[in-house]
Amino acid sequence: MRIDVLTLFPDMFTGVISNSIIKRAIDQNLVTINLIDFREFSADKHHKVDDTPYGGGAGMVLQVEPVHAALQSIEGYEHALKIIMTPQGVPYTQKQAYTLKEEDHLIILCGHYEGFDERIRHFFDLEISIGDYVLTGGEIAAMTVMDSVIRLLDGAIGQKASHEEDSFSQTLLEYPQYTRPRDYLGMTVPDVLLSGHHERIDTWRKEQSIKRTKERRPDLYQAYMKKTDE
Ligand code: SAM
Repeated sequence: MRIDVLTLFPDMFTGVISNSIIKRAIDQNLVTINLIDFREFSADKHHKVDDTPYGGGAGMVLQVEPVHAALQSIEGYEHALKIIMTPQGVPYTQKQAYTLKEEDHLIILCGHYEGFDERIRHFFDLEISIGDYVLTGGEIAAMTVMDSVIRLLDGAIGQKASHEEDSFSQTLLEYPQYTRPRDYLGMTVPDVLLSGHHERIDTWRKEQSIKRTKERRPDLYQAYMKKTDE
């Protein structure tokens, strides 16, 4: 997979791409990440990429020309899935991460300032929001999407089963997990997990997943019940 990120703050990505699973995925050539500072595509002598909004109002608006020029500079951009990070986009979910994982080439635009010229939308395929709150820029949102997609790429994490059991993968939250010690300050590991009886462990985990989802996310629980009724 290749991911090109259009951003005014490429340095923000340094920590994410140089650590842990994402770094390993890059080292293993599972993913290539290109950070493109679209300020470099500004025709303005001061490299300005924003301007005041027509009609007045607070804040600055990203201009269409530098974004479009940066987009056109990316080899194969016509065939890539082009995404804008925006609080106005579709709410991001694990299901969407699985869909994006199947793409060969993603281009992600990180907005900044008050917003972007509406005509930028014309050049992109999909708008994604990572939640109902407003960030200062699209970088953290883009990193969220990238991280969630890259960890699903074959070979990125040790066992494929680990992400298949993640919360949301089967519309249920994940069951409680324990590791050593068996007893910590009187809080003990459930006996069933020490039984070595795989069938009983699987049953317990499923029950716990359902219980936890019902308590914490009634919306997901309802969806799960509906699916199992069908
Ligand atoms: N005024 C804009 C609006 O109401 O839609 C918000 C602009 S926000 C300060 C600047 C940029 O941060 C956005 O263009 C977008 O790229 C990014 N951003 C902020 N919140 C986001 C969210 N929840 N999901 C995805 N991107 C977000």
